[in-house]
Amino acid sequence: MKDVRVILGDITQSDCDCIVNAANKTLLGGGGVDGAIHRAAGPELVKECEKLGGCRTGEAKITKGYALKAKYVIHTVGPIYSGAESDAELLGQCYLNSLDLAKENGLRSIAFPAVSTGVYGYPIEKATKIAVDAVKAWKEKNPTYPIKVDFYCFSERAYAQYVLILKNTKY
Ligand code: ADP
Repeated sequence: MKDVRVILGDITQSDCDCIVNAANKTLLGGGGVDGAIHRAAGPELVKECEKLGGCRTGEAKITKGYALKAKYVIHTVGPIYSGAESDAELLGQCYLNSLDLAKENGLRSIAFPAVSTGVYGYPIEKATKIAVDAVKAWKEKNPTYPIKVDFYCFSERAYAQYVLILKNTKY
């Protein structure tokens, strides 16, 4: 897909205009990528998050990036995997709503972690397909707004999965 890359590494090091945080509904920090982003951004991030009043599953909210290289953080809350049909819909919404927010703020590059695939238990094979399909659908719907998308992977397994899905997806 045009302007889409897969990167094996730590999303806190990304120099995209914004990085996406796989947050929880409180937006007050947690483990995994959420903890890493808050540590790298510094204590001002949680102070701004406290004012946001949480976030519903599938939705997204934006803050500044503080000490991060990225200017902004888009916090989205993925579904806790249950096997229900609504899981896929909600996970797709995380990507679509994050891209909408990036566009509303004039941002031209965005880095995503593999939302919900850690503590929230979403199987990586399913989650990567949903992520790639959502980005593809969004790009098709917004052809006049080019945005660079990096999928950050924290494991070789996730990396291999994204590469495979991107290879097998027609654009
Ligand atoms: P969730 O609660 O949405 O499952 P997690 O943070 O537990 O969120 O995991 C989401 C994904 O982020 C997992 O695939 C995990 O390996 C990955 N991850 C954890 N830390 C980082 C990081 N620093 N950079 C990029 N990805 C990360």
